[in-house]
Amino acid sequence: MMGLAGVPLGLDFRFLDPGPNACAAVVGDLLNAGFSDIEAARELARSVDVATFDFENVPQETAEAFEEICPLYPASDALGACQDRLVEKTLLTDLGISVADYHAVAGRTDLLEGVERLGYPAVLKTRRLGYDGKGQVVLRDPEDLERAWQRLGERELILETFVPFQAECSLVGVRGHDGEERFWPLTRNVHDHGILALSRPGDFDAALQTAAEDKVRRLLRHFDYRGVLTVEFFLRDGELLANEIAPRVHNSGHWTIDGSSCSQFENHVRAVAGLPLGPTDLARHSLMFNWIGRLPDRERMLAFSGLHWHEYGKEPRPGRKIGHATVTAESRESLMETAVDVASAAGGDFLRLVESLD
Ligand code: AMP
Repeated sequence: MMGLAGVPLGLDFRFLDPGPNACAAVVGDLLNAGFSDIEAARELARSVDVATFDFENVPQETAEAFEEICPLYPASDALGACQDRLVEKTLLTDLGISVADYHAVAGRTDLLEGVERLGYPAVLKTRRLGYDGKGQVVLRDPEDLERAWQRLGERELILETFVPFQAECSLVGVRGHDGEERFWPLTRNVHDHGILALSRPGDFDAALQTAAEDKVRRLLRHFDYRGVLTVEFFLRDGELLANEIAPRVHNSGHWTIDGSSCSQFENHVRAVAGLPLGPTDLARHSLMFNWIGRLPDRERMLAFSGLHWHEYGKEPRPGRKIGHATVTAESRESLMETAVDVASAAGGDFLRLVESLD
């Protein structure tokens, strides 16, 4: 999607991806190698002017080796800080950004101390490599403790208070080569089995938007950041608690391709390439549907007026994000009317999820 946004800007792309059928190959040259392959990263670094990533589990060592040869935005320090939930939560706390109460867990004793301090329910998560609800277990009572320890106990963990949130939302921001900062509207996110299913921007008032921007701005300035950065929040009793930082374009910002004057992908590429930023407005009422594990019937979907189809060319697999569609409309009413019809036609749990939005 970055390539699709950057080619019209006159830029040429080269991609490093471990998958031999990586979908990026349609927009640029593909270097097929693993993210831990430092020699491949060096080869890429010697062949391009500047680089970025859209996956935060690129090993920090690979990013550092790359940076010795070629500029990388965002830089490896921001990447590294977002790879470990404990480092991330500590940084957020140090920057005065509220998070759910947490406890570092390196062994059973820490876990017992943690539940003693935080109480039930709580969420036990792996510090590294968890995403889409993977690598985490909700602890509701002491009986869950042993089961959770059996499942996750071999790794470094973090225990968090379970937040009884009213909504989940995220803010996507961008910082340009000259330090200019822009933010898209705060977006409401609905998850299904821990995976993002729906995103709808424009649900929150100006005060909450300002509060979210203030938090994301602190991170952008802390890292002297260049590019798009996203923070996922829980909204509880009018207060935003940061859950996760993504040093990259984000799934909850996919609606910006069709619903904003300049998408997160284009603005990220502009920032990385040293070009001026574009607008981050809500140009049209928008709702994004994520296609997870299965694509609905394309012809049927394309018959909906205002539906924008994005298919990634990825092999379907349970739980894998293989495409999305954004419905846009001139009013909130017509958006939600079409959304209900799209959800019914898409099947699965979409109708229930869309109806949970209002
Ligand atoms: P994460 O992998 O941290 O993004 O978590 C995936 C999803 O699990 C979140 O979007 C929430 O729906 C849920 N979740 C994670 N942490 C908590 C928490 N501390 N309290 C309540 N729900 C949580």
